[in-house]
Amino acid sequence: MSTLENFLKDLEEIVSFDSGTGNVAGVTHAAEIMKTHFESIGFSCQLVDLGPAVGRGLFACNKPDADHYDVLMNAHLDTVFPDGTAKARPMTIKGDRAYGPGVSDCKSGVLAIYYAIKNADPKDIERLSIAVVLNPDEETSSGYSAEWINSIAVKAKRALIFEAARAGGELVRSRKGSSTYVATFNGSSSHAGNAHYKGANANVAAMRFALAAYGLADPDHNTTVNPGIMKGGSASNVISDSARIEIDTRYWTNEDDVALDEAIFKLAEATWSPRVTQTLTRTNHISAMPFSENTKELVDLMTQAAKEEGFDLKWVDAGGASDGNHIAEIGIPVIDGCGPAGGDFHCDREFLRIDTIEERIRMVSRFLHLI
Ligand SMILES: [Zn+2]
Repeated sequence: MSTLENFLKDLEEIVSFDSGTGNVAGVTHAAEIMKTHFESIGFSCQLVDLGPAVGRGLFACNKPDADHYDVLMNAHLDTVFPDGTAKARPMTIKGDRAYGPGVSDCKSGVLAIYYAIKNADPKDIERLSIAVVLNPDEETSSGYSAEWINSIAVKAKRALIFEAARAGGELVRSRKGSSTYVATFNGSSSHAGNAHYKGANANVAAMRFALAAYGLADPDHNTTVNPGIMKGGSASNVISDSARIEIDTRYWTNEDDVALDEAIFKLAEATWSPRVTQTLTRTNHISAMPFSENTKELVDLMTQAAKEEGFDLKWVDAGGASDGNHIAEIGIPVIDGCGPAGGDFHCDREFLRIDTIEERIRMVSRFLHLI
């Protein structure tokens, strides 16, 4: 069988059972299958317990005693799909595309790591120390695995993330970071007619605050601020005594992240309506994965690898975060989208471009030769 036929057979196997993030047994089953694959090419493997809420992660390495890794390769084992999806929508192939739950987000990326190593020049594998990290909970922001990934990434010179390439084949050279803020406002209620001025309207404060926060977005730096949720009040004839807003911020660099964070907390110190007080907390924080000097080197190397394999590579900057953002946070150069190309993720139209499978495997094998 050709590489492509083998790849599709292996892909069908790991798409054929449910592995939504909450399906601990399913995700662990995917890890076990990949463990067998990596052991078959001489890698030493470890299933890693990351707590009862998620499946096992897989660590695979050709030089387990190495004190550094030349490259870390990461992809995730979980999908967004509920139990029953694999049976209802098993993998199918129509023309140049494969369909099925997780077929390109991220099962083809998981397999592409294995195939790229398997097809690499054995001398390169002998020369390099390669760490493979497959995590079980990317689709829920890697809450149980980000620390584990970084405990390995910290020893790596560079990292490749095997999310699918974009539908047009583009890789991802940078990703925006994001933060979530929750502001709660406390006023006092009163009759809107008889005792209007006795009340202190929390909604008014919340609206003014939201507008001011929205105004912190900087088009020159392409930072954005989105007051995405607003809740407040109990009835139109009652002065609202409480309100709550949730705000999402996005930024390309860590400097912009810090500047936005300071500015939004400064807003929380002001008075937005008389006798209304507020508290602000940052409930979620993801660092930017910036396009830095270090990243540029990686981008150039991967572009060269593609060229040597006969195709031109294009790159995009993405607004959404991935595990690349966590790795970037500790200063390791990282690029994303190293898997075969696909699109329409997280819905029943999700597809994998079969025509990109072999070229991307060869590209990554070549990359290993160039580093
Ligand atoms: Zn996804």
